[in-house]
Amino acid sequence: MERQIRGIPASPGIVVGHVHLLRWEVPEVRHRIIPDENVHDEIARLHEAISRAKERLRHLRQRVESTAGAEEAAIFDVQMSILDDRELTRGIEDLVRQNLGAEKAFDLVMLEWRNRFARHAAPMLRERVGDLTDVHIRVLSLLMGLPDHDPVDLEPGTSAILVTHDLTPSLTVQLDRRSIAAIATDAGTRTSHVAILARSLGLPAVVGLRNATTLLRGGERVVLDGGTGMLAINPTDAEIDAYRERQREEAVAEAALTELAALEAITLDGVRVTLRANVDIPEEAEAAARSGAEGVGLMRTEFLVVGRTTMPDEEEQYRAYRRVVEAFDGKPVVIRTFDIGGDKLPVGGFPTEPNPFLGWRAIRMCLDQPEMFRVQLRALLRAAVHGDLRIMLPLIVTLDEVLAARRLLEEAAGELRDRGADFRADVPLGVMIETPAAAVAADTLTRDVDFFSIGTNDLVQYTLAVDRGNANLAPRFTPLHPAVLRLIKRTVEVAEMGDIEVAVCGEMASQPLMAFALLGLGVRQMSVAPRSVPLVKRIVRSVTEAHAKLAASAALRARTADEARHELARRLGDAVGDAPYLYDGLPGPE
Ligand code: PEP
Ligand code: MG
Repeated sequence: MERQIRGIPASPGIVVGHVHLLRWEVPEVRHRIIPDENVHDEIARLHEAISRAKERLRHLRQRVESTAGAEEAAIFDVQMSILDDRELTRGIEDLVRQNLGAEKAFDLVMLEWRNRFARHAAPMLRERVGDLTDVHIRVLSLLMGLPDHDPVDLEPGTSAILVTHDLTPSLTVQLDRRSIAAIATDAGTRTSHVAILARSLGLPAVVGLRNATTLLRGGERVVLDGGTGMLAINPTDAEIDAYRERQREEAVAEAALTELAALEAITLDGVRVTLRANVDIPEEAEAAARSGAEGVGLMRTEFLVVGRTTMPDEEEQYRAYRRVVEAFDGKPVVIRTFDIGGDKLPVGGFPTEPNPFLGWRAIRMCLDQPEMFRVQLRALLRAAVHGDLRIMLPLIVTLDEVLAARRLLEEAAGELRDRGADFRADVPLGVMIETPAAAVAADTLTRDVDFFSIGTNDLVQYTLAVDRGNANLAPRFTPLHPAVLRLIKRTVEVAEMGDIEVAVCGEMASQPLMAFALLGLGVRQMSVAPRSVPLVKRIVRSVTEAHAKLAASAALRARTADEARHELARRLGDAVGDAPYLYDGLPGPE
């Protein structure tokens, strides 16, 4: 074997395949002066590249329309119209006539356009910057004869392992499950949204590899192990056989877990835990329902928007929410209002900010755009007619936000009433506890909300001041840090005192060792990735509440996350043995 590189396990599964390297970045362009007699040919070369780029976009549009839908495919119409713009092409031709090579002329004009659009007062035009960048990369690659990395070229059935720096929204909508078997990225962490999306799509993934795109050239045979975060480059046949054996073992272990789907999540001493699923895209709903989940504890609606140029209208949203509610046949379905911003941006994005995670994100963005927010609220109230739908607000910091959202919810109901539409007005409204402010001051919220759901991904990020998407900081992202455990404990106690329900829907609940800790901290509702439902059920069914409580008390007394992990692992090991998958890729009990 040439080498193994280690990243962060993001979505489980072992895949053997060939690397499809996607370098989606603007290449360096050399300044090149051309003689007068070549100007005509150079302009012809420019037009040839533009028409080839348009041809590719047309092709891509068709493919994305058939795999992802017409709205997602609309991005490519925008990009084609950029290439049809006469002002743009005239500007480039003028520079070529001044003896500049076509690629440099194109590069300069595109840079100028991108800058101009980025600074534009109209948000609609600012949103075009992402499309301009895509077009910039595409045409330059053709003009410079660079290796063609476009995922569009993959034949269905290729089973490629997509290796890229980071997945942008426009790349995300192009992911075709028929040709891409796994994803590996330099950037990202377990809680970044590439990882969350990969888990939703059931695509094995390793993120945070840091330099995979520089180490690989494309075409190498690799093994990707999404469960351990490993990418083995050019493995020998014997090594591949060993991986295939592990693949078979994992399939057997998973089948055994699946048998748990029909059983209750109840501890050995009779404490009942409600296990729900996190659903990120409506298409996931039916499979999530089969996983044995008792409803949905978190639907991340922003994935309806990521990769799109426009917001989905009321009707489209209503259909998406209704699908999820109906798949769960009367069981509770908690739908979170848009958590756009941070690292979840639609195509072209909203204005870039220096600190997006501390910026205009989630409930802040929704409250500042009441027209947009009411569309979502109306769709939710209408979908609520079809089952037990509950609404949840993300990133709450203060009661004012809850009250403002309630007012908008009443307005939305009023609009539906005026229209004579069918809807439910008494939909429960809950909040995510995912900022230290909300956790510490949770008691200020209980009177005005119907439930809490602890979002540990953001809670860890904001409590420890560790960017959840930064691969360099991944070892510092420690959910078992005493500060985080105390905030969770406090939130659970406040919810009990205020007599409202409290769940955990962050990644922590999907990880067996941490789920054990949460059980001990008094959490009785968890919402986890559908694949983790049987795994967490197995943990719950293997321990007593008393045992979990002792373990959690020991973890709370620990002075570091590592100490807490040891305490928990030792005690969980006593109950369930040392199956490595129970320890989230960390060492098990010693
Ligand atoms: C969280 O922050 O824990 C959470 C569940 O929400 P998201 O990961 O979508 O930010
Ligand atoms: Mg969050």
